[in-house]
Amino acid sequence: MAQKLVERTFVMVKPDGVQRGIVGDCLRRFENAGLKIVAMKLVHPTPAFIEKHYPSDDGWLRMVGEKSASTFRDLGIPLKQKFGTEDTLEIGKQIKKWLVKYISSGPVVAMAIEGYRAIENVRRITGPTKPFEAAPGTIRGDYSLDDPGLGNALSRPLLNIIHASGNKGEADNELALWFRKDDFMTYKRLDEDMWYKDWS
Ligand code: UDP
Ligand code: MG
Repeated sequence: MAQKLVERTFVMVKPDGVQRGIVGDCLRRFENAGLKIVAMKLVHPTPAFIEKHYPSDDGWLRMVGEKSASTFRDLGIPLKQKFGTEDTLEIGKQIKKWLVKYISSGPVVAMAIEGYRAIENVRRITGPTKPFEAAPGTIRGDYSLDDPGLGNALSRPLLNIIHASGNKGEADNELALWFRKDDFMTYKRLDEDMWYKDWS
């Protein structure tokens, strides 16, 4: 039963996380919680590759644009002043351009993380998109104070340390994009019996 809920998700320490020297701390948090690294590499991705990593459909672009727009509204900063539009689709497209440029600007650590409800558990440890809204104790909350009123207002994406797949569809696509089948390792963590052995 519980074994069926063991999932794989994709995580990437972004260039800001690598350059701040906190790859180890990010990994420690996943490992401490009982999650297992099953693939990992340090790579400098091309812009074309990151273009594929982040979705291009209108729904995703609007969702991203709306995150920025809501903070601008809260802070009373006119959207038009920064983006030249109030259309969240256009704002999402602008943010994606900044993202592609930024994520391809230096090495990132890409990994596949496995464990019980790994997709949600990794997001819980990572914290929400805007570090300003991320609680202390999460990676984004502990290492950043960024939000769209700072980052996007300065024509850059939020520097939020780490990427983690948001749902099963993203996890499957991202794992297939970043890794080949034989990159995934099979091994047992010493505490796996504690988590997964049936006590009945
Ligand atoms: N982003 C941004 N401004 C926003 C929303 C997103 O700069 O208002 C950037 C940020 O770096 C984020 C990435 O775009 O991590 C992808 O956005 P998404 O909504 O998928 O956030 P995530 O899944 O990374 O939490
Ligand atoms: Mg996302």
